[in-house]
Amino acid sequence: MDYLPIFRDVRDRTVIVAGGGTVAARRCEIALRAGARVKLFAASVAEDDFAGLRDHPRLEHFPRCPQPADFEDAVLAFSACRNEEDDRRIAEMARAAKVPVNVADRPELCDFIMPSIVDRTPLIVAVSSSGASPILARMIRARLETMLPAAYGRLARFAGEFRERVMARLKNPENRRRFWERTLEGPMASHVFAGDETAAEELMERELALAEAEEKSGVRGEVYLVGAGPGDPDLLTFKALRLMQKADVVLYDRLIGDGILNLVRREAERIYVGKRPDDHALPQEQISDLLVRLAREGKRVLRLKGGDPFIFGRGGEEIEKLAENHIPFQVVPGITAASGCAAYAGIPLTHRDHAQSCLFVTAHGRNGIVELDWERIIRPNQTVAVYMGLRLLPELTAAFIAHGADPDLPCAVVEKGTRPGQRVVIGTLRNIAEKVKAAKLTGPAMIIIGTVVTLREKLAWFEPGSEDANADPLPQGRFTGTL
Ligand code: SAH
Repeated sequence: MDYLPIFRDVRDRTVIVAGGGTVAARRCEIALRAGARVKLFAASVAEDDFAGLRDHPRLEHFPRCPQPADFEDAVLAFSACRNEEDDRRIAEMARAAKVPVNVADRPELCDFIMPSIVDRTPLIVAVSSSGASPILARMIRARLETMLPAAYGRLARFAGEFRERVMARLKNPENRRRFWERTLEGPMASHVFAGDETAAEELMERELALAEAEEKSGVRGEVYLVGAGPGDPDLLTFKALRLMQKADVVLYDRLIGDGILNLVRREAERIYVGKRPDDHALPQEQISDLLVRLAREGKRVLRLKGGDPFIFGRGGEEIEKLAENHIPFQVVPGITAASGCAAYAGIPLTHRDHAQSCLFVTAHGRNGIVELDWERIIRPNQTVAVYMGLRLLPELTAAFIAHGADPDLPCAVVEKGTRPGQRVVIGTLRNIAEKVKAAKLTGPAMIIIGTVVTLREKLAWFEPGSEDANADPLPQGRFTGTL
């Protein structure tokens, strides 16, 4: 490390700023924001830059050069004279008075350098490249800006008010860590973000009482039921990623690809719980029991589900068991296969000229029989997205036609949607099953039925002369904005 990063308290202390231009104005501004008394030395100042600063009660303007005596009570000095001789003289005076000095754009004259900051007071993130590339530091800062909602400041302040109470009531540092992790990422934070601090306070009190009771009786685990989306890791939510990186153990099934599994905390134990249509590696009942058992051992258990846990994901059944056993849990929604496949295949699920509604249905009935409410399903201006229907496609399309649907109604089958190797087969109710058979699709696959499918021709991007007519050469290209 080339520099020691520290946060200096300058409240009610004197900070010297020399110079009357833009940089000097920024230095004054930030020192004032941090509560300093600023002595500004400049023969004249740029009106625009200093417009909001000149009348500040803690800013004193001296229309002259600083003298050694001016540094006597100072704790920091900034020089931004833009004149080598002046900058050097000021740096020498500061150093003689043992006042750390920063000279703009002259690292060789600096005792300290200024980081790029993200200000969510009391939360402050400072980024520095040690002078190697201030622009890079600024770029990273810009990324952090977007990652940290403005309300994080409020959250930090709110947490600060509880800090001593938590210290006093939870003796074990490990329990305190868990308590804070749980509350800062859970509904308490949501209340603070929504501006409802009363609700947040009540919740904190309840959580604290609970944590205190637990500390007396032993540790308590929790379960995160997380939707991992249809496959492309970029479609994970921030919350999913956060919980994935916290987990002690992960239970995952067939729909979870390596790209996503690799983002789970490296140290986490991995348990495959299977689930192919015919291969139930672990029956649902046992998965639910396992979740309860692992949580009781005090573990943070991640139950990773493809798509959204509450859409044909049996998420409801899993949390039922957790609730019965008083195991705390969080449910994180994910992008469901219908949305992911539709977006990456260029088929809007609704469209003013084609469909005013979209049904999500499953074709996977008991014993393979499709039990659907046909009157609801076969309607004009509606898109039907069918989950778990690949193997039953011939029966499904025949049933559509038998119940009165137009045999020429367009259909799309999207296989491995959003993943590398995504394939899309387009046809009609009459011929899609044959085409899919010819293309030897293996799944997972999403069936989309409705005239919206014709929009793909307008919207999708094909590589001219592509070898495989069904291959989407750039499935994650045009529709995700990554190109
Ligand atoms: N909870 C999941 C659905 C689980 S049911 C969700 O919200 O997406 C499993 C079915 O989802 C599969 O049979 C298939 O129809 C569909 N599916 C899941 N991932 C898919 C993908 N990447 N591409 C196409 N279909 C997918």
